[in-house]
Order: sequence, then C-alpha cells, then structure tokens
Amino acid sequence: MSTSSSDQLKPMLIGDQWVVREDDALESINPATGALNYRVSVADAALVDEAVATARAAAASRTWRDMLPHVRAQVLGRISDGIRANAEELARLQMIENGKVWSECQAQVASAAATYRYYAAVCETLGAEVTPSRGDYLSMTAYEPYGVVAAITPWNSPMTMEAQKIAPALAAGNAVVLKPSEVTPAVGLAVGRIALEAGLPPGILNVLPGTGSQTGKALIGHRDVRMISFTGGTITGRHIAAVAAQRLIPVALELGGKSPHIIFDDANLQAAVDGVVDGIFEGSGQSCVAGSRLFVQRSVLDQVLERLVARANSIRVDLPDAQGAQMGPVAGFRHRERIESLVDSARREKGEVLAGGRRPEGERFERGSFYLPTVIAGLSNQATAVREEIFGPVVCVLPFDDEDDLIAQANDTVFGLASGVWTANYQRAWRIARALEAGVVWINTYKQLSIATPFGGFKESGIGREKGVTGVRLYQQSKGIYWSMNPANLPA
Ligand code: NDP
Repeated sequence: MSTSSSDQLKPMLIGDQWVVREDDALESINPATGALNYRVSVADAALVDEAVATARAAAASRTWRDMLPHVRAQVLGRISDGIRANAEELARLQMIENGKVWSECQAQVASAAATYRYYAAVCETLGAEVTPSRGDYLSMTAYEPYGVVAAITPWNSPMTMEAQKIAPALAAGNAVVLKPSEVTPAVGLAVGRIALEAGLPPGILNVLPGTGSQTGKALIGHRDVRMISFTGGTITGRHIAAVAAQRLIPVALELGGKSPHIIFDDANLQAAVDGVVDGIFEGSGQSCVAGSRLFVQRSVLDQVLERLVARANSIRVDLPDAQGAQMGPVAGFRHRERIESLVDSARREKGEVLAGGRRPEGERFERGSFYLPTVIAGLSNQATAVREEIFGPVVCVLPFDDEDDLIAQANDTVFGLASGVWTANYQRAWRIARALEAGVVWINTYKQLSIATPFGGFKESGIGREKGVTGVRLYQQSKGIYWSMNPANLPA
C-alpha cells in the first residue's frame, strides 16, 4: 500500500474485501504542509450494514471465539510482529495525517505492537473462575464475548488508541468494526491488512473510514452492534451513551480531560518543570491526559514560571520529520482556530501570555497548522481557558496556598482523567493522590503509562477502564454456570 500518492483512493476493509467507493471520499490533508495525502473511501449506511453483517456472521461462525486461547494468542502475537515489521509505514501514516513528530510516531507504533503482545499473553492465561459453592453443586463464572463491538476513535493517537481497543476486544473473542477518525483513517486500514496477513479470520476486524455524522451514526445505531467502545470528546461521548442507553447495550467511554499538574515548594523544581513541559507540549498538547492546568505553590510561583517560560521558548517547533523536531503542527487548521480563540478568551479574561500565544513565523510554517508552546498566567480557576479542554499546546498556571486550597481548585472541574503531583513529602503525596478526583495520579513523574495498568476517567472523563486484564473483561459478559454434583439428578 503506497502512503503518499495524492491521486490514490484508499479502500475500506469489509471481511477480506477492500472496497473502493468514490462518493463523498475523505481528503486526508497533511497538517504540516497543507498538501493532500490521498483520498479515502467512506462507508455510508448501506456499507455499515454490510460490514456489521459480515462481522456478525464471522462472530456467529464461532471460529474465532472457539479457537483455543493459546492459538488465538498466536494470531495476536503475529499481528504484533506485523506491526513491528511495518513500523516505518505505520509511523509515517500517522505522522502525515496528524502531524506528530517522527520520534513520537515511532514510539507509538512500538507501544501498539506491545499492546497486541500483552493481550496475546492475557488471552492465553486468563481463566474462568470456580466460585464458592453453597450446596451440592459446582458454581462457575465464565466469560463470553458480546459478538460485534463497534470501536470509534479520535485523531490524536490512532496508533495506540486503536490497539488499546482492538487487541483486548479480539482477545475477548469478539468481532470488531472500527470507525477511525476522519482525520486519521490510514493507520487502522494498515493494521486491518496486517491482521489479515497474520491469520485473523476475515470479518473479525473491519475498518470503515467516514465521518461521525454518517458512518459513526449508522454504526452506533446498528441493531447487531452489541457493545460500543468510544474514545473522543465529552460531547460526542454523551451522545453515544444516550444512543447506547436507548438500545440497552454497554458502552465504554474514554473522554476529555483538563488535568491538574501540581508543584509543591519542596519539589525538585527542575525535574517538575521538565515533567510539566513533557506533560503539556508533547504531541502539541493534543493528549487527553495533557497537564493543562498547572497549580504551583505560591512561594515558588515566580521561580517555576521563569523556568517554564524558558523551557517553552526553547522547544524546537518544526516539520514533524525534521531532525530534532520536538513539536509539530496541531492536527488541523480548524483545530488551530479553536485553540487561538481560547487563547484570545484568556487575554480578554485578564490572562497574561508569557510564552507563545501565536503562530511561529517563517516560511517553513506558512502552509502548516503550527502553533507555539504557550504559557498563560494570571487567570482565575473560572476562566474559559482554564475550564475548557483546549487540546493544544497551552498551559494555564495558577497559584495555591495550601493543600486544602489546592484540592478545592484542582477538583473544581467537570473532568477527572489524570493528574500529577511533585513533592518530596511522601505522606503529602499519598494524601493528595487519594484526594484528587482523577483516574490517574502521577507522583514525581508525568505521563508514564503501562498497558498493564487500567486506565480511564472519573466524572465526565469517562466510564469504564481500558488496559490491563480488566481491558479484556470490558469486552466480555460474565455468565454464572451452576452444575449439580448430586448423582441423584443423573439418569440411573
Ligand atoms: P470527537 O468526539 O469529535 O470524535 C471522536 C470520534 O467519534 C471520531 O471518530 C468522530 O468522527 C466520531 N464521532 C463524532 N460524532 C459521532 C456520532 N454522532 N456518532 C458516532 N461517532 C461520532 O473527538 P476528536 O476526534 O476531536 O478527539 C479529541 C477528543 O478525544 C478530546 O476531547 C480528547 O480529550 C479525547 N481523547 C480522550 C482520550 C482518553 O483516553 N480519555 C484519549 C484521546 C483523546 P469524526 O472523525 O468524523 O469527527
């Protein structure tokens, strides 16, 4: 599969068929250059119906779900190998679609391969349970797949987000229909091809590019989709949850964040500032766990601001494939406009822009959607830029006086995805970690993630937990089985 010919029309994957459709084809645009990467076939409601029917038939045939777990694990292992073998192509596809720098794309490909490897191991080792009996019978809990799972993903990290859904859903024995973001359809298509080459039965993974309003809508409303796994914004998540509620099917939601990153006056300030910089500017801030609200104990506020502004100004913003580039563009032009309007709102609400707050200058940036690393101080915790998820390279810095003041401010948000605290006091670290309303707390580090540790949000940041062993259980329903041990109940 070529990755860069602009006259190319990429097909979608239904079963083992690569389906081309000219109508309404998506245009994939490189955010670093504004150039057309390629066009992509889009699934309308009829093709969604066809894909779900294909997935349903593949699930109903039981070939995949009844395959012995260690054999199913071998297929997942071969997908992992295939991702590794195609690492350059996959990293490049993600880079030209969402503008992440090359080193980050490479790291995300390695992470996706590791995710398939991890779920191969879970698939092979995860057992059912014999539960304590209350009589003359054996009681057990077995776990069954749902059948057809719809996976809907965002554009910021398709490589890892999609692996986090597909690998455990497959390990659980389901068939999957993936609708990737309209901005980043190519990675999912390439993984679909790799999965077929790895021996995944046709129809067990289908990939349908398209818009949310057409393809996504048809998919979540389809009567044969039995479970929805969604990662994206909170507004879309709320809508999907409402559709799932009407249909009485389970839904897993990984949604937005506005994560507090906290520095106490006893912290190693340089390490903390390094953590803050990585936590907000990596991926141009387009990360659900970005530490976008920085709370600094008042006595060290000036010191932290001085170091933070110096670090922000020294970040090398460049074309994503340039040697040494640390930050590429944001993923699109409309998205940059939204970031700009939120920074403007901060100016209107008396915020002081200490770094960035504008597009970089220079010919190489003219055709791309670049925006500089931005540090804003002086806002209240009620300001629009502090409350809304910006999903860009913008950190708002706020002071706090003591632990009570900090917890009140940090938890004063509708979100609850991630958080970080820097302090030398281990008792305080523990108190803060327990008091923060967030699904992840990092102590003296930030953005460390392990596939083995469940991940998900409190409050409006989501429902359910991906990753870890629970990541497979998310895609299964338990079944209680009672088996009489009384020989009198058997034929004589
Ligand atoms: P969106 O919610 O806009 O879109 C996510 C996906 O949902 C896309 O594939 C989109 O399609 C699709 N979609 C949109 N409307 C519908 C609909 N009515 N029915 C079905 N599907 C629909 O999010 P973004 O793509 O803009 O991603 C950014 C958001 O994702 C941020 O809020 C971020 O915090 C969150 N996110 C959360 C993570 C987590 O783990 N908690 C991780 C990464 C991101 P289309 O592409 O056409 O818009």
